[in-house]
Amino acid sequence: MPPPDQQGFTGCRVFVTGAGQGIGAATAMKFATQGARVALNDLHAEPLGRTLAGLPTVAAGPHLERPGDVSHEDTATRMIETAIAEMGGLDVMVCNAGIQIPSPSESVTLDDFATVMAVNVTGVMLCARAALGHWVRSGTRGTIVVTSSVHEIIPKPGYLGYSASKGAIGNMVRTWALEYASRGIRVNAVAPGAIETPMNRSWINDPGKYDAVSRHIPMRRPGQAGEIADAILFLASGQASYITGQTLFVDGGLTLYGDFQENWAT
Ligand code: NAD
Repeated sequence: MPPPDQQGFTGCRVFVTGAGQGIGAATAMKFATQGARVALNDLHAEPLGRTLAGLPTVAAGPHLERPGDVSHEDTATRMIETAIAEMGGLDVMVCNAGIQIPSPSESVTLDDFATVMAVNVTGVMLCARAALGHWVRSGTRGTIVVTSSVHEIIPKPGYLGYSASKGAIGNMVRTWALEYASRGIRVNAVAPGAIETPMNRSWINDPGKYDAVSRHIPMRRPGQAGEIADAILFLASGQASYITGQTLFVDGGLTLYGDFQENWAT
């Protein structure tokens, strides 16, 4: 199977984690719309089934469901290996599943901290490891895209585990990129800003909070899941064939020090 080219993803085999809703579901939809055969994972089988049911059929074969917890070693390894066997290979691995648990840092429980790290760091590592192992054994020039966050570089008070986990993603991506560059395997991340997905229900459904969020963003609006999916597809495509080890911030300018939009310091 050739690497994804500029004609879309026809015939490509793609695995997307956390595809039951939000960014993962939008990403699966865009890949399938461009002809890819997609294997979908989510912790929850019901939303996963809904995403699957909405995907267009593709010539490469039926899309696959792989419900399960990405942070569980046996589950993560098995679901990816069985998808690879069923699809006859893998070209793109999208490590997208992620969670956050709020708590003041002085009272964060070990359980909550460990749970966030398990999904956002260990889960990404396990899924990437399964893909990389297959690509090394088969000589495939595959590509990984990880969903990071603006909190890869911006602190997130009250979300210590989330901040730590997304900071880790940046270095994991650069490490894998360097380790596998000579094999033609590329690894990148997309770092969303504030996106309208179910993860952000608390402010999406509150007009006052929604306006407050919008005011903090230089482009004055949250992003849509499809806008993140577009960036993920770009990094997976042949148009990004010389890009590896990078985090692409897709955030309406959120990482641009918005307070400097007007000149207050001179
Ligand atoms: P979401 O909560 O809407 O969707 C995440 C999906 O991941 C859910 O369907 C959930 O069931 C699944 N999931 C959670 N734990 C899992 C596990 N252990 N195994 C398998 N699946 C699991 O969130 P989203 O906004 O679509 O976020 C997707 C990714 O984007 C996450 O990594 C998140 O950190 C990142 N992100 C989101 C935003 C945003 O504003 N929405 C901003 C920055 C980064």
